[in-house]
This record gives sequence, C-alpha cells and structure tokens, in this order.
Amino acid sequence: MNNILNSELPTKDGFFGEFGGQYVEDENLKAEFKKIYEAFLAIKDDKDFNAELNYLLKNYVGRPSPIYFARNLSKKYGCDIYLKREDLNHTGAHKINHALGEALLAKKLGKKKIIAETGAGQHGVATATAAALMGLECDIYMGEVDIKKEKSNVDKMKILGANIIPVTAGSKTLKEAVDASFAAYSREYNDAIYAIGSVVGPHPFPMIIEYFQSIIGKEARGQFLSETGELPDYVLACVGGGSNSIGMFNGFLKDESVKLVGVEPMGKGEKLGENAASLTYGKEGVLHGFKCLLLQDEKGEIADAYSIASGLDYPGVGPKHCHLKSIGRVDYKTVTDKEAVDAFFELSRLEGIIPALESSHAVAMAIKMAKDFQGKKFLVNLSGRGDKDVEFILNSQNI
Ligand SMILES: *Cc1c(COP(=O)(O)O)cnc(C)c1O
Repeated sequence: MNNILNSELPTKDGFFGEFGGQYVEDENLKAEFKKIYEAFLAIKDDKDFNAELNYLLKNYVGRPSPIYFARNLSKKYGCDIYLKREDLNHTGAHKINHALGEALLAKKLGKKKIIAETGAGQHGVATATAAALMGLECDIYMGEVDIKKEKSNVDKMKILGANIIPVTAGSKTLKEAVDASFAAYSREYNDAIYAIGSVVGPHPFPMIIEYFQSIIGKEARGQFLSETGELPDYVLACVGGGSNSIGMFNGFLKDESVKLVGVEPMGKGEKLGENAASLTYGKEGVLHGFKCLLLQDEKGEIADAYSIASGLDYPGVGPKHCHLKSIGRVDYKTVTDKEAVDAFFELSRLEGIIPALESSHAVAMAIKMAKDFQGKKFLVNLSGRGDKDVEFILNSQNI
C-alpha cells in the first residue's frame, strides 16, 4: 500500500503511474505550462494566497459545506448514509472550488482573461462567476447543440459578463468545445489562462484542479469523524472527468479501512457510444494532451460518450483515476441512466433534496450497495444540486 501514500502528486512530468503527462507539440506552450506549474507550486504554500483563497471559500462559497445524515434514506435501505453537501455551494456545485483557485492563479500570473469550455454550462457558470469576481475577461467555448439545450446556464453566463463562443464543428458538444478552447488558448496564452473543467488535460492542469478540489475530502473526513467518532466504510462519488471524486477520495487514500468507490455512467447500455464509462471500458490512449483510459473503437477512433447527465459524458477521464484503478485502491462501478433518475426522485422525495443528475449516480450506487452491506456507513459526495435538471426531467419523465 505504500505507493498510494506517495501518489498524491504526479512526477514532475505530470505522470500518475503510466497515465497523464503532457502530450503537446508547441514548444512555446510547453514553456508556458512550465511557468504555470512553477507559479502554482509557489502560491500553494504562499501565506497571502491561502489567506485570500480561504476567505473566499468561507465567505463567498459558503464552506465548509456540511455533511448531512440522510435519515429517511438510511432507514429505508438499512445503512447509515451521509451526504457531503457540495450542492449548497455558491453556484450549486463543486466546480466553484477550482474556478476560484484558477482565477486567483490567473491574477498572480498577471493574466487578463480566462478561457474555458463548457458542456452543460456548469463549469462555464462557475468560471464566469470567478472571472466577474476577479475582474477578468472570460471567453466560454460551447457547442451549438449545448447552447440550445442549456439556455438558463447560457443566460447566467451572459449576465455575469462572459462571452459565449459557439462551436460548430463535429457533434457540436463538449469534446469539440474543448478542442476549440484549447486552440484559442494556444493563440492567446500570453494574456490568458486556460481554466479546464476537471482533472483532465495536459500537465499541470490535473494536479492543479485536484489540489483545489481536495478541500472536499479534507473537510469531509474531519466532519465524519467528529459526527460519528469513526471513519466511513464506503466513500462514493460520481466520475465524469473525475474532479469531485478525486477531491473527496484524497481525504481517505491513506485510510486503508475505507473503501473508495467511483461511479461511472452506464448511460443506456454497455455498447460503445451508449455510455461514458471510460474506466470500465476504456483503453489506453491520448486525448486533449494527456494519456488516460479512453473510450475508442478497434481502430483507435475516439468514441462518442453518452450519459443522461451532461457533466459526465466525456470519453476520457483524469489520469490519477486511471492510476488508482491500476493499483486497485479505488473500485469503479457503473449506474445506468434509469437507476440515476430513480435515485434523483428517491432523494428528492425522501429527503427534500433535489440532486444534480451527475450526483444522482453516486446516490444510486449507495442504494444498490446498501442491500449487500447492511448496517455499514456510507459517505456520498453530493457534487451538485438539481435545479439545472428540473426542466429536462419534467420533459422526459411521467410525473
Ligand atoms: C461537472 C459536474 C460533475 C462531473 O465532473 P467531475 O470532474 O467528474 O467532478 C459532477 N457533478 C456535477 C454536479 C457537475 O456539475
């Protein structure tokens, strides 16, 4: 188990085991990444930076987010189920944790602009929020299909002062938006920083995002101990790119008794194109500048990813997850669209908490596992609230 204790930071080339790295050709961009890496290492231990970040996390985001003992859910399923309430954060999800960190980093580097992509719009709203707060310009790249689908988030970003740049290539969704924002960043990096939406992309982005999200697990471990006097038996979180889950898991990696479960979207089924379970079905490959387990066909063509939760439908996944899977420290399981929607209603009606469809995947897995592990203690990361999903659910379900 010793290698886990040493796996918290990647190698200086950005590798977690055999995954990660920096697959980028442009030498100027590589030099810029080195600058960002060094600036990040310096500020993460800087007193003033931490004082400002801590002030904002407390008074702007509303941290620490509480853990809540879900009494009715626990009673019905015969386990103790606790929820880490990232849904209560300002802007409604965990993404604000790293958006603020990246905006502060941008300021320290003297940048004027933040460039980001967004799929469902959650990362775009968090980034636009942080940019407004820090007085930075903000360009958000978004697929045309997603712009039509996610009107309320698009409206919010506009109100917050961000420029929305429609992306018309390919399937006009998240993957193309990443391609476009990365291309824009490659031209504008003198004045701009790239605020990637998860623990993905070329080194040093995965380690930076992970660092800012680690507040989740750090808080949750202390809260769980002080509330129950023990550690949880199982810690669960949904995995899209992997930021909320890695943030949560980091708090418990060294606790050998705690089992960690990452929950991937099985979507409509097991076939390529019907799900976004990259850790379950992916093969090693390179996408967006880093090596990970990637959904691809026999020819190595990257597959379309699908999940009912747009925040989970990415064909790759953060390199540290790939590493944690390969050393057996985290178990990765799957939940279908239908199971996630059932859990969405179950939590809404039993506890009065409407979860994001992404987070509903983690809740669904807790419900599934409860049958086999009666009496155990579960800690589930509720990564976001479901306001954004209400209209979609109303249009697609019979209620
Ligand atoms: C974006 C998002 C996710 C998925 O991203 P990760 O990087 O895997 O955490 C999960 N939950 C919510 C609420 C999101 O907005």
